Amino acid sequence: MSVRFLDLGRQYLALKQEIDAAISEVIQKAAFISGPYVENFERQFSEYLGVPHCIACANGTDAIEIAIEALRLPQKSEIIVPANTFIASAEAVTRCGHKVVFCDCDPSSYTISIESVQRKLTARTAAVIAVHLYGRSCDMSALRNIGDSANLKIIEDCAQAHGAAWRGRKVGTIGDIATFSFYPGKNLGAYGDAGAITTSDEDLARRVRMIANHGRIDKYNHEFEGRNSRMDGIQGAILSVKLRHLDAWIVRRREIAAAYQSGLSGTGDLVLPDQGQVNQHVFHLFVVRTKQRDALRKFLRSRDIETGVHYPISLPKLAAYAYCNQAAEPMLANEIASELLSLPIGDQMSLDESKEVIDACGEYFRNVERQG
Ligand SMILES: *Cc1c(COP(=O)(O)O)cnc(C)c1O
Repeated sequence: MSVRFLDLGRQYLALKQEIDAAISEVIQKAAFISGPYVENFERQFSEYLGVPHCIACANGTDAIEIAIEALRLPQKSEIIVPANTFIASAEAVTRCGHKVVFCDCDPSSYTISIESVQRKLTARTAAVIAVHLYGRSCDMSALRNIGDSANLKIIEDCAQAHGAAWRGRKVGTIGDIATFSFYPGKNLGAYGDAGAITTSDEDLARRVRMIANHGRIDKYNHEFEGRNSRMDGIQGAILSVKLRHLDAWIVRRREIAAAYQSGLSGTGDLVLPDQGQVNQHVFHLFVVRTKQRDALRKFLRSRDIETGVHYPISLPKLAAYAYCNQAAEPMLANEIASELLSLPIGDQMSLDESKEVIDACGEYFRNVERQG
């Protein structure tokens, strides 16, 4: 049996009628950009999260950039970004004219290390980007405390964590402002690029909406220079359909994760993800750690099992951030970049498929023991 890392085709087949009807309605009404389908989705998503304002935009990277711009931080502020994340979280900081300061990840959750954030604070620090990596919430209680006592803005990057929660509150409702990506492969994915920004602050919400739409008040009345970052009507309609299924999909992801947790415990040197006690982990990715990452990956590929690596190079080590001069700083995030392996997980994956992955991992480590 082959196991795909992610099978979006399977999800489409399960929803085909709903999705096809939604797309054709948008085309018939010619509601291509923003408009009623996007407004519907904004309302539904803000209700789902429990946050007053949701503003759709073109993608998750724009969402972070627009969020930072809307906060109007002092020029050339320092913004703390975790070293182990996708580049978008850091790119947005630089594009807004601020300075990226990398911090390390926590050894058990791989999300932002609170201790490391505290060490990186200076008089110029204006914000922290809390990336809810792999579908697990950062320690938002600790970050809120740091934010309040050091007068920092907490920006949540929820691109991997739709529906995840911290102490019963969904991520995207806890920081000063939050951003989502609906890239097709995310837990709630569009059929193209799409993103959103959420906040409880009405002034901030208004500014976000204007930045994303040419600084407009009316069609040809612009209060300031903004940009064009809007969601397509088709994406809004698709996301409304998919949002109805999100909670069931999270349940399935957590079932697969539970199967991995019990089936893989004690297998070789595999370090399994710490699910956390006070949060709801939505398992966008199921990431294990092993010294034999590349060999295990190759073995799984030979068994027709796809895996991923998130992320093979920590941000401070990328050529793009050589100018930050932080590559030589010792960080756990640098060390584990060669040890992390993402096993297949998804809302359409079957428990039989997870069994296939578990058995293949077991076989790999038995072979290693026999030979070694
Ligand atoms: C996917 C992702 C983004 C960027 O979203 P896009 O919609 O692809 O621009 C930002 N941050 C994280 C953590 C992501 O995983």
